[in-house]
Amino acid sequence: MPAWRLLGELPQASIREEMRAQFIGEWNPWATHWFPLSELPIVMSDPRNPALRCHVKTYETSISMGRRRFAAVLLDGIWRIYVPAVTGESGAFEASKPLFEGFWRTADTTSQGRVGNPDWPVPDSGWTGREVFLASLDHVEQTAKRIAYRGYSSCRICGCRNGDMEYQFMEWVWPSGFRHYVDEHHVRPSVEFQNFISQWAR
Ligand SMILES: [Zn+2]
Repeated sequence: MPAWRLLGELPQASIREEMRAQFIGEWNPWATHWFPLSELPIVMSDPRNPALRCHVKTYETSISMGRRRFAAVLLDGIWRIYVPAVTGESGAFEASKPLFEGFWRTADTTSQGRVGNPDWPVPDSGWTGREVFLASLDHVEQTAKRIAYRGYSSCRICGCRNGDMEYQFMEWVWPSGFRHYVDEHHVRPSVEFQNFISQWAR
């Protein structure tokens, strides 16, 4: 797993003068353009609660010494900026990758990381854990972070409008429409996702 370390923290500035005055070392992050990287976000302990995880996007920018790859997240009014580290370096920690469930094949979900999912939802009417799973899923979704899509997803089986956001909790990401596949079409979640949901539903 790749190692990262905290480079610095900056309070969220509300006016341009404040932003101009903010530096981490010699770098003013607001004075350089952030190019989002196409790689997956990194997953790390939530700095506000180490028992939880947060997903942090990665970027590249130009600094005087060349290009800098970094990860940045705004939590409760504080920007936290991380940079790759060497394992064993002071403050270094291991970051993991997000895990995905229920992202079926479409033009917009062929990106790396989601390819671990089955191509297409397959009904499995022989599965008996559905009711318990759905009750647990509802419970976890109440505390999961919600991330809006641009537009709606359509059900791959019946074609209905099926969700316009995804959920994120701990390492996992799943579409809000996943519930419909399980409930209406008897799609059986992966064992890993079932275990995750039952663990956090208690
Ligand atoms: Zn459907």
